[in-house]
Amino acid sequence: MNNEDAVIENLRAILDIRWICEIGIGKLLFLGRFPTDIMTRVKALSLLSGGLDSILATELIRKQGIEVVCFNIKTPFGIPKKDGTSEADQAASQLGVTLKVASVGKDYLRMVRHPQFGYGRNMNPCIDCKIFMLKKARKTAKEIGADFIFTGEVLDERPKSQHFPALCTIEKESGLKGKLLRPLSARLLPETAAEKKGLVDRTKLGNIQGRSRKPQFQLAKDYGIKSYPSPAGGCLLTCEEYSKKLRDLFVNKKQVSMNDVDLLRVGRHFRIGANKIVVGRNEAENKVLVARKTKSEYYFELPDIVGPTTILQGPKTKKAIETAAKLTAFYSDAEAGEVKVNFGRGSLNKSMIVAVPEKTFAENLRVGNVMK
Ligand code: SF4
Repeated sequence: MNNEDAVIENLRAILDIRWICEIGIGKLLFLGRFPTDIMTRVKALSLLSGGLDSILATELIRKQGIEVVCFNIKTPFGIPKKDGTSEADQAASQLGVTLKVASVGKDYLRMVRHPQFGYGRNMNPCIDCKIFMLKKARKTAKEIGADFIFTGEVLDERPKSQHFPALCTIEKESGLKGKLLRPLSARLLPETAAEKKGLVDRTKLGNIQGRSRKPQFQLAKDYGIKSYPSPAGGCLLTCEEYSKKLRDLFVNKKQVSMNDVDLLRVGRHFRIGANKIVVGRNEAENKVLVARKTKSEYYFELPDIVGPTTILQGPKTKKAIETAAKLTAFYSDAEAGEVKVNFGRGSLNKSMIVAVPEKTFAENLRVGNVMK
């Protein structure tokens, strides 16, 4: 081992890469070579949604020989794939990277209900959501010893949450001012701490800006990435119909539980004053409704005709019970006339006769007036 190798060996043994970067890469380079295994020890945490931008950002950073661990937050508003996996799961397995997943609780619901920076087109509080996720990511970055955090955000891609002031707000409010790297647009944004320290080569980062996705599609082609979801397809908060149901829930219920939110995915939703009525759309939903209803809530079914299961939330007034029974009859195979509807708490031990209502009856009560 010559003198130069001995110096490098000692550095490998005793130095942390962050310290190396602080003393300056130049001081290592004067030795005539850069120890590549030290270089690969730079570690970064990628906020991976599973969308194309976050996939490309992850690849861009990995191409620099940086070790990337991905981080995803599972919210109650995600849209799982048919096989139960998420976009992030699929992206991570396609890239062959480690994925850490964190779930959220009521604190996330509180944020969605009262976002400091408002909503996008629907009930999507994207700025607050990013801040929320990055705060969690900071904790994970610390745990795994990541040198920096990055996201797939693209300057000006989204009108509400990705213009320059919004990116600055996200950075500041998440406690990452000057430290959050956006690899796809980095050359158009102020230099971050990781770039200044030489952990990342800024010249190899992107300068993508705007709503056109052409540069991303090209980059995906260059990287051989064939599978990625359509933009903004993975969050129910961006869906108009779902947002109407969520708004209705927030307006009408003070204490909203995860169960309330989960139920918004199931069935057709109707509102009469303090009552919410949910009618199943198929057998699977009927089963979910019975399983998810609280002990005190009534459920309704037709004993003699094929039809849905319905649950009634809120005060059990005569009007509410009758409305739930009528909606059950409307969505059954009964075409007209009077039908018997059974209902009860733990079992269907009560019954009433109702007339099958007109379509307008259901239409007028449907949350968001969506008839399907
Ligand atoms: S689309 Fe949904 S998950 Fe994504 S930032 Fe907006 S609110 Fe959060």
